[in-house]
Amino acid sequence: MTSLTFTHTPGTPRSAAEREQLLENPGFGNVFTDHMVSISWTKQDGWHNAEVLPYGPIPMDPASSVLHYAQEIFEGLKAYRRADGTIVTFRPRANAARLNTSAVRLALPEIPEELFVSAINELVSVDRDWVPSGDDQSLYLRPFMIADESFLGVRAAERARFMVIASPAGAYFTGGVRPVSIWLSEDFARAGRGGTGAAKCGGNYAASLSPQQEAAENGCQQVLFTDSATTDTIDELGGMNLFLVKGNDTLVTPQLNGNILDGITRRSLIQLAKDRGFTVEEREVTVSEWREGVANGTITEAFACGTAAVITPIGQLKAKDFSIDFGDAAPGEVTMSLREELTGIQFGTREDPHNWLEVIVKAEA
Ligand SMILES: *Cc1c(COP(=O)(O)O)cnc(C)c1O
Repeated sequence: MTSLTFTHTPGTPRSAAEREQLLENPGFGNVFTDHMVSISWTKQDGWHNAEVLPYGPIPMDPASSVLHYAQEIFEGLKAYRRADGTIVTFRPRANAARLNTSAVRLALPEIPEELFVSAINELVSVDRDWVPSGDDQSLYLRPFMIADESFLGVRAAERARFMVIASPAGAYFTGGVRPVSIWLSEDFARAGRGGTGAAKCGGNYAASLSPQQEAAENGCQQVLFTDSATTDTIDELGGMNLFLVKGNDTLVTPQLNGNILDGITRRSLIQLAKDRGFTVEEREVTVSEWREGVANGTITEAFACGTAAVITPIGQLKAKDFSIDFGDAAPGEVTMSLREELTGIQFGTREDPHNWLEVIVKAEA
């Protein structure tokens, strides 16, 4: 089963000129490559029919379970082009493992790690010319799984489909890294005890969109969620994990409590900080602690992290009745040096001491 062979249907790729034009300013999530991967699953036959197809619409029965009960999970990772033409991905096996954790929670089938990694490699190889080479640019990969059984009864679907699509991504911050303002969501939580907060599923994102609108109405770019029981104990942002910096050598981040998404960027930064001899505290973190720490000078920086932006410095936390401001102190030094270290490893300008990168396409000799 893990040694499924992919069939290739080439289609008509766009011309080099058209591709080059699209790669000039791709933004995020707007442009897609020429191909996609699809692998089918049924309860009876397991994983089968692994295909590399021209990118395009997928026919779907209107009764498909995903459309009604949101039985869907996804992942996000990037492929990077090195100066010598080598193309690498960052910790793809961690994404495979996390997809399977999400699959178990959403009653979807697990996919063998090797099949997940082969799917990524097949797509990046065939669309290698779409991996951009500009500063801080990459090819964002979006593996996902949907339940596509045509059945309106409420139970785990017996038919599913795993797909991978790819989207060239420009530098997240154009014109320099800028701190963001984040909004404290006091009326809505993204997760609660026993819910799906630790799974990477579309439903969590659907629930975060109206708080995100509230954030925008209050002049903020992102939302911070607390646990569902309080408006003080911090979980994470809608799609990024949160860190506070104390002094010059301590990171504080909410511990994985069953409601928080186990970010691979989060995990990687914890490792890099420990390698530097920093203290990393994974524990309960509160807004009150953040407020007091900034007031008395012990908390010096805050940042959010995730695959898309790597590290986003936080300049301000805004709530209904108060705000916490770093003002000119953001982005902080620790934030920026961790950002440079991790992106340096990803783009190959620094050593990769933990073997996080997997080579997909070798440099042409
Ligand atoms: C994907 C995601 C993250 C970040 O995870 P990375 O693996 O670092 O990209 C954080 N929080 C949520 C809710 C997410 O969906």
